[in-house]
Amino acid sequence: MYYVSTRDKSQRHTAAEAIAQGLASDGGLMTPEVLPKLSQNALETMKEMSYQQRAVYVMNSYLDDFSASELSSFADKAYGPEKFDVKEVAPVRTVDGNTSCLELWHGPTCAFKDMALQMLPHLLSASLVKNQEEKTVCILVATSGDTGKAALEGFRDVDKTRILVFYPKDGVSDIQELQMCTQEGENVGVCSVVGNFDDAQTGVKRLFSDEALRKQLADRGFFLSSANSINWGRVLPQIVYYISAYCDLMREGRIQKGDPINVCVPTGNFGNILAAYYAKEMGVPIAKLICASNANNVLTDFLKTGVYDRNRTFYNTLSPSMDILISSNLERLLFALSGHDDQQVRGYMEQLSATGTYQVSPAIQAKLDKLFAAGCCDDEQTRKVIGRMWKEHSYLIDPHTAVAFDVLEQYRAETGDPTMTLVASTASPFKFCDSVLGSIGVTELAQGTDLIDQLSRVSGIEAPAPLAALKEKQIRFDRTVAKEQMVEQVLEMLR
Ligand SMILES: *Cc1c(COP(=O)(O)O)cnc(C)c1O
Repeated sequence: MYYVSTRDKSQRHTAAEAIAQGLASDGGLMTPEVLPKLSQNALETMKEMSYQQRAVYVMNSYLDDFSASELSSFADKAYGPEKFDVKEVAPVRTVDGNTSCLELWHGPTCAFKDMALQMLPHLLSASLVKNQEEKTVCILVATSGDTGKAALEGFRDVDKTRILVFYPKDGVSDIQELQMCTQEGENVGVCSVVGNFDDAQTGVKRLFSDEALRKQLADRGFFLSSANSINWGRVLPQIVYYISAYCDLMREGRIQKGDPINVCVPTGNFGNILAAYYAKEMGVPIAKLICASNANNVLTDFLKTGVYDRNRTFYNTLSPSMDILISSNLERLLFALSGHDDQQVRGYMEQLSATGTYQVSPAIQAKLDKLFAAGCCDDEQTRKVIGRMWKEHSYLIDPHTAVAFDVLEQYRAETGDPTMTLVASTASPFKFCDSVLGSIGVTELAQGTDLIDQLSRVSGIEAPAPLAALKEKQIRFDRTVAKEQMVEQVLEMLR
């Protein structure tokens, strides 16, 4: 199977090339030329498998140039008991008669980014070998929190890789900063940048386009790459958990083989829900894809009207990982729904960058209507849902997941659709202790890592080990630089 750019399908690449390259050279996203279909009894077969075996089964159909035994060793490393705190890896919890919750946060950094970022480094380092790349890859990340830590954990001590993370000194929570600055591993580096997320991101973009730096690094045996969510190696591992969840629902007798389910996903960059779309296209009986946004509701409007318009106020919300106005992975959906019309996709993306807006064709809009439902939820409502889920179901959820539960409730009120629905839960509530404590009625909040103990005490739920262990960890990185000094910082860290 080959991969093509969403903006030029005449250039074909192997999976290893697509993963090593990340973004296509024309700015498009690498996408499979054809989607593999699940065979007639694939779901039945996978039902009896472990999560790791399901991952191999699904990923194998997309990665011709990787052997099953290779993928199997990656899956064991990525999703083993040293990394995930439950053997199911991505367990499905029953909420009520027709609602289940897919918990995607049992990995080392307690957010769903781990599902892909535990796998990507193995795919990437094997791709480099296949491409006969002799240099060591250096991953540069600018992060506003979750991605940086998940990437650090994923790449930690992976052969032929280095990872450097820059975060804004004034832009991450205390717990997120502590998570990054205590990072272990021989190939990692963390540094804060004076300013906000924009400063860190601009600085990293400048590093990528600095030809003199690239040359100096090449002489030392390094080349730069990114672990951004548009890399195919991040989307693919996410398809696995939707298929796995369907198998689990069958195994538990919650549904019968062939029964439709809806999927409701708290969405930012559109990577997670895109994976659900691919699972549906492969043959999983998914009826509606319900796209949930916070106050940054650009996708809600888009899916309802066919007009994408990023020219609007940006809000900082309780669900920061969804505070986004340009959802990059939407481009892959447009490519699929236009029937792989690369010129049409290129046109939309050019309009987006020139004017901040575009309107899809009536044909695409009709397909969007059929596939998706969409809704949004503000912070006040987010808090209420966290409180209500705790009170009524003794189920503690984080603010991102709460947005999805609220939008599901709105959808059901509007449509009366009784279909079994799987809600994607994207972060542990212990990652957002202050919002969660406030929402369940606690008014006197502790400080720093004591918040973790406080939430644990109040809820009677044990905190995930990686978060509980934070207060005992050594600070390994404490350097802050101005964005002008980032080049020297990279050169120093890559000696
Ligand atoms: C990244 C993230 C999201 C958004 O996922 P996308 O794939 O960008 O749509 C939602 N919730 C949490 C906790 C996240 O970290």
